[in-house]
Amino acid sequence: MTDRACPCGSGAALEICCGPFLSGAAVPPTAEKLMRSRYAAYVLQNIDYLKETLWPKYQDGFDTVATAKWAAENHWAGLAVLETEKGGEADRDGTVLFEAKYLTGGELKVHRELSRFRKKAGRWYYIEAL
Ligand SMILES: [Zn+2]
Repeated sequence: MTDRACPCGSGAALEICCGPFLSGAAVPPTAEKLMRSRYAAYVLQNIDYLKETLWPKYQDGFDTVATAKWAAENHWAGLAVLETEKGGEADRDGTVLFEAKYLTGGELKVHRELSRFRKKAGRWYYIEAL
């Protein structure tokens, strides 16, 4: 590993930020950290991680090929977490409002999403966009 900055924009190095989550060495303790690590997974094109952190019931319907294509076609240009509600270490569910900037076809776009997360057996999962 190098000391490259984590793509999630936290300002910390990848290896002490989302890196351990992406490699499976640790699980994100909060919904926001899961959300950030999922953004980092898009940037690093870690498609398996995107599937594994999806609510188990939805994993069968996960389109690996389409997600990989989308992740690869866009140039990810930054993440801003705007608001979180619950999703803390003692919570079982929570929401995160964020904006992810990306370049596609030479145009800068913003994906704004209110995401819902839920914890099961000590792990946070992404449920859906609200
Ligand atoms: Zn990070």
